[in-house]
Amino acid sequence: MEAIFIPHLLKLQQQQQEIPVDQFLPDLETLTPVRGTLAVKHQGSFLEVTAKVETIITLSCDRCLQQYNQRLQVDQQEMIILDAAADQPSDYPLEQELAWEDLVETLSPQGHFQPEVWLYEQLCLSLPSKQLCNQDCAGLVPANSPASSESPSIIDHRWEALELLKKQLS
Ligand SMILES: [Zn+2]
Repeated sequence: MEAIFIPHLLKLQQQQQEIPVDQFLPDLETLTPVRGTLAVKHQGSFLEVTAKVETIITLSCDRCLQQYNQRLQVDQQEMIILDAAADQPSDYPLEQELAWEDLVETLSPQGHFQPEVWLYEQLCLSLPSKQLCNQDCAGLVPANSPASSESPSIIDHRWEALELLKKQLS
């Protein structure tokens, strides 16, 4: 997916570009390609990004550590503020309280929108915080530990005489 030059959107019909998505993302290992559609619309002071995509990803269960496949879906609409200051480094003191605008993604109106990066972020955000292969997953089943008397390496040789005596008595 190529980066979208933001001013270019203004020349398109309805100032909107629709991108069919059917590909693997470079930084996200998925079992199937990410499939769906992504639309970017120029709304003057902001971009409106709409995506409806899905894929299947292999996750590792938090409880039993087994791998399992999970469907990931993104059905999302996001506003990205177009702000000419977005390219400039912010020089205000770090301790300054963050304004609401700072919490929203911003791009320069003369910049590029990276659909792949945006999709990657959305898919990562849609990952379940608790990864379970199954809601009823019982977790790690302890391996059957052999009874210590059957494990010669563990037996202290000083007990051998006692073991012998026990056998003679039974
Ligand atoms: Zn599990």
